[in-house]
Amino acid sequence: MLLTITNRREPATDLGYLLHKHPAKLQTYPLTFGQARVFYPGAGDDCCTIALWVEVDPIALVRNRRGPAGEGFSLQQYVNDRPYSANSFLSVAIAEVFGTALSGRCKDRDELVATPLQLTARIGVLPCRGGEGFLRRLFEPLGYLVTATRLPLDEQFPEWGESSYFTVELSGLVRLQDLLAHLYVLVPVLDDDKHYWVGPDEVDKLLRHGESWLASHPERDAIVERYLKRQRSLTRDALARLPVDDASEPDDEDDSQTKAIAEEAVETPIRLNELRLQTVIAVLKGCGANRVLDLGCNTGNLLRRLLDEPQFTEIVGMDVSHRVLEIATDKLHLDRLPERQRKRIKLMQGSLTYRDARLNGYDAAALIEVIEHLDPPRLAALERVLFEFARPGTVVVTTPNVEYNVHFAGLAPVEGGAPGKLRHADHRFEWTRAEFQTWSSRVAERFGYRVRFLPVGDDDLTTGPPTQMAVFDLVLGAESRSDASE
Ligand code: SAH
Repeated sequence: MLLTITNRREPATDLGYLLHKHPAKLQTYPLTFGQARVFYPGAGDDCCTIALWVEVDPIALVRNRRGPAGEGFSLQQYVNDRPYSANSFLSVAIAEVFGTALSGRCKDRDELVATPLQLTARIGVLPCRGGEGFLRRLFEPLGYLVTATRLPLDEQFPEWGESSYFTVELSGLVRLQDLLAHLYVLVPVLDDDKHYWVGPDEVDKLLRHGESWLASHPERDAIVERYLKRQRSLTRDALARLPVDDASEPDDEDDSQTKAIAEEAVETPIRLNELRLQTVIAVLKGCGANRVLDLGCNTGNLLRRLLDEPQFTEIVGMDVSHRVLEIATDKLHLDRLPERQRKRIKLMQGSLTYRDARLNGYDAAALIEVIEHLDPPRLAALERVLFEFARPGTVVVTTPNVEYNVHFAGLAPVEGGAPGKLRHADHRFEWTRAEFQTWSSRVAERFGYRVRFLPVGDDDLTTGPPTQMAVFDLVLGAESRSDASE
């Protein structure tokens, strides 16, 4: 089984310090059930990846009686998924090999422990008992962007259908210690099994590694129950010892929100956010739309303004993150709105990179400061989902103009030095005007839309405006050019 962790926060090789592993070395660690190897597929200043490769020896398992329980003398103890898919063996390997980082210690570089990094964890084969929905419900509330690809039972026999295994990527601005703790606890939870006897000390482990996040996790009970192998008395004990959930407190722990606030702070001097939303509302009103989508709606800043305009009779907010939708529900007081208002708005969880019939047939869609959060290879999927399948009459897209970053303190490139930073740690890219216009024109041409560009904010003579906006209008009678090669 293979786990890789990538850091994209410069200097990315800080990852090596935190994990106490030298990028130039291949290291091997003997474990009771096999061995673990650690190596770096890449270690650059802007991107550094460490791999933890765990080899499980099924014969050793049988010898040590650590095979799947209750199998007696059967083939299952030799032939099973233990060596290949991520499970409680991976958790043990994380604790053995990355123990110092997991416990939040770092010799000489204490400040690094507390620093959120731009991390992506990738697990090649992760069993998800409970399906993709459960996987998302586990990790999205913790602030991760989850990408999951379901694996077939057997590539050679597609007619056998799909397995319950996924290749999973979890990305987020998180402290390494937290990422390791989330994996340590949640991988066996997804597998819904453990390779070893679960006794009272497992409760201590769970409470220790879940200390900062488990009490307020929406799937808390399921996590505790599965982690403790559904042993009633242990589960009861663990739940009783968890601190009281402070979910009613302000949302200051919410990652996306904190990130959004950080981005706002960078842009504050010109109240760019406000201006951007006003411009979007003006464009949507101008095109005569009644039924509108806010895609990547986050905590509902645009939705609130849409609700204020009677012209919009049906408003749908969609986001990939459950957590932000919960906050939006709260902030918009959805459960207290009068019936007539309540009927105008709907929130739904979904990803813009998957075709979704719920998005079909709307007059307009807003995609405000969202595209830059997608990995460039996923952008092609979003293009088709939105412009080919959902096909709204008008689409408003905004994204930062990277040329403008020289005006923001701290983001400008140093002369002769590295290129400037992005406005938000979760941005995968920020485009120049030329890049955005090239992308927009290509999309418009391919899918039968006409596109125009509007500046948002101070339209500086040399750098252009801080936010760039494209407005796509569907050309009546135009077909989208389906491209079989994609
Ligand atoms: N439109 C909002 C928020 C922008 S932040 C505003 O202008 O204030 C980007 C949002 O896009 C986040 O809430 C994030 O959860 C969401 N997002 C990222 N990838 C997504 C995807 N594939 N599908 C749906 N939403 C996504």
